[in-house]
Amino acid sequence: MKEPIQVTRSSMPAYEEYIEEIRDLWDSHWLTNMGSKHNRLRDDLIRYLKVPNLMLFANGHLALESAISAFKLTGEVITTPFTFASTTHAIVRNGLTPVFCDIDPETYTIDADKIEALITERTSAIIPVHLYGNICEVDKIQKIAEKYKLKVIYDAAHAFGTTLNGIGVGNFGDAAMFSFHATKVFHTIEGGAITFSKEELAHKLYGLMNFGIRNQIVVNEIGSNAKMNEFQAAMGLCNLKHIEEEIQKRKRIYERYYDRLSGRKGIRLMKLTEGTKTNYGYFPVVFEEKELGYNREQVYEALARENIYARKYFYPLTSDFECYRERFDSSLTPVARYIAERVLTLPLYADLEPELVDRICSLALNP
Ligand SMILES: *Cc1c(COP(=O)(O)O)cnc(C)c1O
Repeated sequence: MKEPIQVTRSSMPAYEEYIEEIRDLWDSHWLTNMGSKHNRLRDDLIRYLKVPNLMLFANGHLALESAISAFKLTGEVITTPFTFASTTHAIVRNGLTPVFCDIDPETYTIDADKIEALITERTSAIIPVHLYGNICEVDKIQKIAEKYKLKVIYDAAHAFGTTLNGIGVGNFGDAAMFSFHATKVFHTIEGGAITFSKEELAHKLYGLMNFGIRNQIVVNEIGSNAKMNEFQAAMGLCNLKHIEEEIQKRKRIYERYYDRLSGRKGIRLMKLTEGTKTNYGYFPVVFEEKELGYNREQVYEALARENIYARKYFYPLTSDFECYRERFDSSLTPVARYIAERVLTLPLYADLEPELVDRICSLALNP
């Protein structure tokens, strides 16, 4: 049996390169708590992402929870259900109520024209998702936020290194969360970061990330433990050296898929928001049975028979999760539901063979 092909495969530096990077930890014995690798990675990422402020975290989810907590939000938060569990959980775990906005049928990001109708007296923030390496309509969202005095925190877990008209995606909104999980375009095994516009937020975020400990005797914040350790940071330092090559390799796979699948009736490909330079993180395809005569499940099965595993990513909607479905009604976000029921995210990683892309495409067109 051939090795199974998964939807993604973590990129890794050469073994020797990582060993070289961690060697001096055996001299310093400084393994975590804002060590020198942590600080170097933070500074390198500030440069790479072209952002004014960035704080590293143990993972993206804790970063997002901390960012939400840092802004002391109350009541309701407008977000979308077409995302990973983390986005919705981070809102609910902060004691807030998610209010689900529908998505745009072409970009799969929040439909900015539908936000205003959902705003109530209780709304305190908008938490949109820069999904699949695409970028939200940030200008429209900003205007609404200013009009109603709402905070904007982006879930940019998928958007590492993307830009909108040359501006790093981490510059939009009050803050943005990046995930450096092993499956993401850039990773630190587990890891994440918050980028933010106002430097004053750093103190608050730091407290939330490190038990609120300010010095040996002062603890003034009910913080969590979300520190990135030196082994994670070392992986990040190695991976960051190869990030351009990583993105270029993904671009070739992405374009090969695009070439073979675009312009086909019944096959819908994601449209990038105008001005977006993507990181080629994902290749979602929407299969419309009415036009194709077959559906997403059949494509999924046809691929699985050849040991190729696409993902129904994002299905179900978070509002349909067992832990939420009593509270929310996903028929209120019909576009998100339509896309979630038909989407398949195809395998995409730097070293995926072009012949496999061709095989996957031919099964997608003829399962
Ligand atoms: C990966 C991901 C997260 C969470 O990041 P972790 O680093 O895995 O905690 C949040 N939101 C989205 C959309 C993600 O894909």
